[in-house]
Amino acid sequence: MSQLVVIEHPLIAHKLSLMRSKDTPSVQFRSLLREISMLLGYEVLRDLPTELRDIETPVGSTRAPFLKGKKLVFVPILRAGSGLLDGLLDLAPSARVGHIGLYRDPATLEAIEYYCKLPDDIAERLAILVDPMLATGHSASAAVARLKGRGARDIRLVCLLAAPEGVAQLARAHPEVRVFTAALDERLNDHGYIVPGLGDAGDRLYGTK
Ligand code: URA
Repeated sequence: MSQLVVIEHPLIAHKLSLMRSKDTPSVQFRSLLREISMLLGYEVLRDLPTELRDIETPVGSTRAPFLKGKKLVFVPILRAGSGLLDGLLDLAPSARVGHIGLYRDPATLEAIEYYCKLPDDIAERLAILVDPMLATGHSASAAVARLKGRGARDIRLVCLLAAPEGVAQLARAHPEVRVFTAALDERLNDHGYIVPGLGDAGDRLYGTK
């Protein structure tokens, strides 16, 4: 589990606790996820390269750091991954966005792909795969395989909650992929839900249950 980064911060912890509560309505759940995604993104992008450029301030000259132009692509796994996208785009507005649509077969919990649209130049980009719940790890592993198949070489996963089973599965399948999460929960239940978790992230985001 060496590739797991649990981002600990009181603001994230507080917002996450609100999201876990079954009494939190969709409208608040959505805005909390957007807020947390910015805080997670801040850490995930911490090592973006910068370069010094000469600038003039109103007071004098200096060499100041600017992003060096490492290209990014955010790839939400539909549908719940969309909930993390706007916060990440607030941080890095020029990033490209790809989408991978996967659903879980309820019997086998395997990931089935139904949609994929990615930028052609993904091989030159840092690909940030986005899904709030790393549960069994099947969806994340399938999505990483898809990104690699399209040429991506530098892939990270951002999630809100991770289960040990999902972290282990992803590490087995794609040991080089770093996982950034707000919390590592206890386990999965028999239906593949994270415990204590927060329920079905997609349903809670979009009020479909
Ligand atoms: N997907 C969810 O939305 N919630 C879980 O707990 C696991 C997978």
